[in-house]
Amino acid sequence: MIFKRAVALSSGQPLSHGRGSEGGRGSVRRYRKKLMSISRRAFIQTMAAAPFANLIDAQEKDHIGYCIVGLGRISMGHFMPGCLDSKKSRVVALVSGHRDKAEKEAAKYKVPAGSLYSYEDFDKIADNKEIDAVYIALPNSMHAEYSIRAAKAGKHVLCEKPMATSVADAQAMVNAARAARTKLMIAYRCQYEAVNLEAIQIIKEGRLGTVQAIESANGFVERAGEWRLNKKLAGGGPLMDMGIYSLNACRYLTQEEPRYIEGFCSVIDHDGRFDEVEENVSFIIRFPSGIVASCNTTYGARMDGYVRVHGSKGTLQLQPAFSYEGIKLTTHIQGEADTEKADKLNDPAQFTTMADNFSDCIINDQEPKTNGDEGLRDMKYIAEIYKSCGRQTF
Ligand code: NAD
Repeated sequence: MIFKRAVALSSGQPLSHGRGSEGGRGSVRRYRKKLMSISRRAFIQTMAAAPFANLIDAQEKDHIGYCIVGLGRISMGHFMPGCLDSKKSRVVALVSGHRDKAEKEAAKYKVPAGSLYSYEDFDKIADNKEIDAVYIALPNSMHAEYSIRAAKAGKHVLCEKPMATSVADAQAMVNAARAARTKLMIAYRCQYEAVNLEAIQIIKEGRLGTVQAIESANGFVERAGEWRLNKKLAGGGPLMDMGIYSLNACRYLTQEEPRYIEGFCSVIDHDGRFDEVEENVSFIIRFPSGIVASCNTTYGARMDGYVRVHGSKGTLQLQPAFSYEGIKLTTHIQGEADTEKADKLNDPAQFTTMADNFSDCIINDQEPKTNGDEGLRDMKYIAEIYKSCGRQTF
């Protein structure tokens, strides 16, 4: 089963170079060929031989060493600086297709030359004892391949959202982590952010009364030439990238799983940017309790992420809800004074918190709150939305 799913992942469309490409079509093809050439038995044996010693070592440490896979905006601008502010999470290795860029970053984080890898020699991370976990910050369709290779190398995985570009890939990632006994966490940073957590608490305590409806939106204007507009790399448009925040928020705020979910897509700007992916998606959800949610996402307009939750006794609003800093919560609740509270921590504090949470899970052998199953659920709902829009993911 595991083998079949891993092959399903590898039999997807060939990856192509996007702008700022680091990886390479060649390396992906070689890996795919390699995966396809091993038998089910050999695959299981490889998994069984994963260096479990690494996992035990990690539990004896007071900090976790991260290997950063993909030196782009989120890793260099946020996650790695977030590790600098941490005692538990350290950058100890880098994977990049650009040696010069890797060397520059290595100097900032005191990463030794022997801990710089290319995508081709990525699997050698298995021999590096300083690496406990990898942080995957690559274009979406590459998440599954590098998560699975990392698990096979005996390394824990913190993977950026969206977890993958298909349900099959997401399931293969969960299976690989299970087989290797490594941990898999999806980087849903808002689920570790204090103001979002306070909103969850207010709803849980029933202060809004019976929650009836949620509205959310999140989007931005995407420029031509970005990999996010390339279906093979992104898996889809704004739903994969930005709408996923609204979807995930509706789930963590209600603590319910959607019973019905459907969407509509559209393209308004026929300027070539949306030849492969949608420009707009609007989706609606009905939860088992009867709560209804309506969400919009776009690559055609600036849409500061927000969430409004309406209950029989009041309303709460998170706006901005998903930004790197300054998340603000306002409440209007019957019998209570109106409140307004903003997150005071500056970027990259959310990344420090998220990385430290994963480091704690590794050190204390606990399951991450936003584990692979949590990411997989979103992938299933996204697939449902695309299906109802008449568009498939891979
Ligand atoms: P980016 O384009 O800035 O960086 C991507 C990295 O992947 C670059 O280093 C690039 O060189 C490398 N790469 C390797 N092979 C490539 C290929 N074939 N084509 C293009 N790039 C290739 O992207 P980003 O904004 O850093 O996003 C990376 C991931 O992080 C995405 O999955 C995205 O959804 C996620 N992300 C998460 C957050 C968050 O707040 N959690 C925010 C932004 C992005």
